[in-house]
Amino acid sequence: MRVDQIFADARAAGAQPVSFEMFPPKGELTLERAREVAGGFAPLAPDFVSVTYSAGGSGNSAATAQIAQMISTEFGIPSVAHLTCISLTPDTLAAKIDEFRAAGIENVLALRGDLPAGMSEADAENIAFPYAKDLVPALVDAGFCVGGAAYPEGHLTCDDLPTSVKHLRQKQDAGASFFVTQLFFDNEYFYRFRELADAAGITVPITAGIMPFTSKQQIMRMVFTCAASLPAPVIKILARYEDDPASLREAGIEYACRQLEDLAAHGADGLHVYTMNRADVAQAAMHVLRR
Ligand code: FAD
Repeated sequence: MRVDQIFADARAAGAQPVSFEMFPPKGELTLERAREVAGGFAPLAPDFVSVTYSAGGSGNSAATAQIAQMISTEFGIPSVAHLTCISLTPDTLAAKIDEFRAAGIENVLALRGDLPAGMSEADAENIAFPYAKDLVPALVDAGFCVGGAAYPEGHLTCDDLPTSVKHLRQKQDAGASFFVTQLFFDNEYFYRFRELADAAGITVPITAGIMPFTSKQQIMRMVFTCAASLPAPVIKILARYEDDPASLREAGIEYACRQLEDLAAHGADGLHVYTMNRADVAQAAMHVLRR
């Protein structure tokens, strides 16, 4: 099922789609392991599951389509295959489109991918598809429902939020019909960003991405790779449970659940959980959202 239709149906019913991310980082997620993860998600009946892609074709990016296909055909859960354009040429994109079609993929999250080491933003301008917006039209023409990434605190390499929102609008103009946000730990950033997006004429659904944090290392990595701000309540949790990883994990999941509840109460278009492939994390989130 197409994700734009899922959002339209939910909007008509006054509901908010809840989705999960499954990530195959750098070759670690085999089809077998992905099947186990999907089996853990299935009883929770998410509205869709998105499957990440290793930028640059490294890792197991070839598995993204297979995993997305498996989620839809074996578990009946709509899926979204991520695709990054940083290393694509027109020929390799055409081959990817064929691969995705052959796998029955309906939804694609069009991304640029992080720049490979040594490549600058200026170098990136000289490649075939420098920005995600450049990938969107070919995917739309090929018949996919196409989404893009949104950044409530602005993208790491973009200096100001209005410019980030302007770039988001370009993705909508290119044909993107839904957005999934970068994770954030303070909902106020999302609400401010939502206002800016509305003012910029962004009309497609923006689903809010939340990652339950389960360790200090994980959250510190996220702060630097995603440019997500750490609000005082999160810092207090990290300080309080510095020597108690189990309690920290529990408090991190609880914090994310409160964020999700608040976003739901504020009428977010949808809620997307960065599950880290953990059924218990997905279950905790679904428990607060569907009770
Ligand atoms: P873009 O929208 O192209 O933006 C990249 C940068 O260029 C931004 O700073 C933007 O402001 C700027 N920009 C955009 N348009 C213009 C323009 N016209 N002129 C000048 N500057 C411009 N990475 C992976 O490798 N695999 C994944 O599966 C993956 N999934 C993700 C899922 C989500 C929901 C999110 C939020 C991120 C994901 N990422 C993934 C990370 C993503 O690839 C990086 O954040 C990447 O650096 C930017 O990708 P983008 O699609 O947002 O790029």
